[in-house]
Amino acid sequence: MKKNVKVMFFTPHPDDIELGCPFIYLEAIRLGNEVIEVLMTNGEYGTTNNDFKGKRLSRIRMVELDRANKAFEKGMNNKIRVVKLGYIDGHLPLNKESVQRVFDLLKKEKPDIVITCDPWYAQDFHEDHLNTGRTVYFALKKFKPAELPKKILYYLSTRTDFYVKCRWKDFKIIKEALAEHKTQYTALENKLIILMYNKFAILRHLFEKCSISESFREQRVLNGELEPPEKFEKMSFRKRSRYYTYSTVTIWGYMKLIDMSLEELGLISKFDLSDTLKNREPRYTYKYLKKKR
Ligand SMILES: [Zn+2]
Repeated sequence: MKKNVKVMFFTPHPDDIELGCPFIYLEAIRLGNEVIEVLMTNGEYGTTNNDFKGKRLSRIRMVELDRANKAFEKGMNNKIRVVKLGYIDGHLPLNKESVQRVFDLLKKEKPDIVITCDPWYAQDFHEDHLNTGRTVYFALKKFKPAELPKKILYYLSTRTDFYVKCRWKDFKIIKEALAEHKTQYTALENKLIILMYNKFAILRHLFEKCSISESFREQRVLNGELEPPEKFEKMSFRKRSRYYTYSTVTIWGYMKLIDMSLEELGLISKFDLSDTLKNREPRYTYKYLKKKR
């Protein structure tokens, strides 16, 4: 990564930087670049303990986010700016309003690099993750070619093609940051995430690319237009099966968390709820992507 650039990270939940792209985040801070984290939701649902769900959890998670970012900033002489869009956890809409808000933000900030969840070939088919990628994708589509960021990268992707060198010793800092999300992980889970997810992924790159790196999918721009996702029918069998596996398996992990209604949590009244649901897109599964073509 270069110096003197503005990097904008979009995250659905307070702990997604640590899970999805911690090394590039840390590197951007270390280089003294302007780093903005755009947090899409308030994280109200991220627990299996029903007593905590709702505003109470959200407040705790915002403190955790702040502490995690302090862990990243430690000794770096740089400050992360957090922009909170305030959508409800598990209910981030993909509609005109959300796309417009992201568009306005991008227009105002003019980042050189945009990093967001993979909108199409995701590792995690949590709807908020998909919609974080998709609101950014559709917001960027509204830009003129000359106004587009220089680089658009997707994390938590199953089709990585862009590798950013990273430092193995940074695991120490990432572990510290991850440990701040106390409502999310126990110390053991923290260790497992670092080992299973991050370290394995990085070792895999070491064998593939002979370097220690974090991987992304780069959004290609063809004749000034963002390249659309590949048509489902055109996907190879391998890609199709991979897509099918990820889109059906990962949704279950999150369905367990979204088991209380918004009204129960006191987050929204009956009338708002019907409105929110109207604005929601159908579930993004394999069928949905197929239908969309
Ligand atoms: Zn998340």
